[in-house]
Amino acid sequence: MIVRVGQGFDVHACSDDPARVLVLGGVTFPDERGLVGHSDADVVAHAAADALLGAAGLGDIGRHFPDTDERWAGADSIELLREVARMVRAAGFEPGNVDCAVVCERPKLAPRRDEMETNLGDAVGAPVTVKGNRAEQLGAIGRGEGIVCYAVAVVTGSEA
Ligand code: MG
Repeated sequence: MIVRVGQGFDVHACSDDPARVLVLGGVTFPDERGLVGHSDADVVAHAAADALLGAAGLGDIGRHFPDTDERWAGADSIELLREVARMVRAAGFEPGNVDCAVVCERPKLAPRRDEMETNLGDAVGAPVTVKGNRAEQLGAIGRGEGIVCYAVAVVTGSEA
């Protein structure tokens, strides 16, 4: 059996546009500032997707879903993640798990963590875990100017 690991990272700035809705792990946070982005700017889904693509040797999310492509304008990133998992399987790998570390001053993720993990895990077809961390008021993330997510993914395959 082949075991591969992949790393994902994403960051999006907070938006001043009141029409932008904050979406993290496919969960909507109605009373929070949204993030700037071409899609729904779901940093958690994006980092998870990049980790899976990296593990399978399939490049990155920007290569497959370019932000210059109108097809992905306002896209539901959970659906992008579902498509990435399909691509990983088409390449002969099975997602093992994905672990995501979100860094933000707000919102508090714990009350919505189960929903996020369910949405993400359903899209990937494997366990996805989400952890929340604060940047302790350090730097741009600590000032609440954006949200970061790091992710790692493991996939397995069989020897060709
Ligand atoms: Mg992104």
